[in-house]
Amino acid sequence: MSFDQFKLAAPILRAVTQCGYTEPTPVQEKSIPEILAGRDLLASAQTGTGKTAAFMLPALDRLSTLKKGPKGAPRVLVMTPTRELAAQVTEATRNYGRFLRLRSTAILGGTAYGPQFRDLGRPIDLVVGTPGRLIDHLERGSLNLSRLEVLILDEADRMLDMGFKEDVEKVVAAAPAERQTLLFTATMDRTMENLANRLLNDPVRVDI
Ligand code: AMP
Repeated sequence: MSFDQFKLAAPILRAVTQCGYTEPTPVQEKSIPEILAGRDLLASAQTGTGKTAAFMLPALDRLSTLKKGPKGAPRVLVMTPTRELAAQVTEATRNYGRFLRLRSTAILGGTAYGPQFRDLGRPIDLVVGTPGRLIDHLERGSLNLSRLEVLILDEADRMLDMGFKEDVEKVVAAAPAERQTLLFTATMDRTMENLANRLLNDPVRVDI
C-alpha cells in the first residue's frame, strides 16, 4: 500500500515523500481513512509505530483548506502528557505541514507566557499543549475552543497516570459537542475504557 491511496491533499503527500516514507505503517493504514471520513477513533498503539503521523496527516488535511478564524481559536488541538512529547508532535507538525500555510503553536507548562499570549492573540489553526497550561489559558480567556473541530489525546494513558484526568475533562467540556475526537493510548484498562466511552462518539477501534 502507498500513501497515494489515501485522499490526502497534495502538499501533505509531498511532505510525506520528502520525509522518505514510502508506505504507511499498520496504525496509519488503519487510522488515516477513518479519520479522513470524520470518524472518532480509539487506537492502542505504542510509541514507534508511527502514531503521530496517523493522527497528524489527516488533521493537517482538514487544515489544508484554510479558514481565517478569530484569534486564539484553533481548529485542531493535540493534548500530550509531557513537554517532551509535545515537542515531538510539534516537530512532526512542522515536517508534515511544511507545504501548508499553517499557524500553529505549543502551549506548554514551565515555559514563558509571553510567546503564548502573542501566538494566541492571532488567528491560529493548530495548538499542541499540556493540560495544565491549556486550562490556564482557557481560564484567562486567551484560548477559545468554541471553534474546535478535532481534539486529539496523545498518550492518554500517561495523562491519566500523571493525574490529568480532571484537566482533560475540563478541556473537553470547553470544546463543542460536535467535534471529532481521536484518542491514542499505549495501554487499555477499565479507566481508559470509561474515559473513552465518555469522550468518543461511536469510535472506530484500532489495535496495533
Ligand atoms: P511515532 O510512533 O509517531 O513516534 O513515530 C516513530 C518514528 O517513525 C518517527 O521517527 C517517524 O518519523 C517514523 N515514521 C512514521 N511513519 C513512517 C512511515 N510511514 N515510514 C517510515 N517511517 C515512519
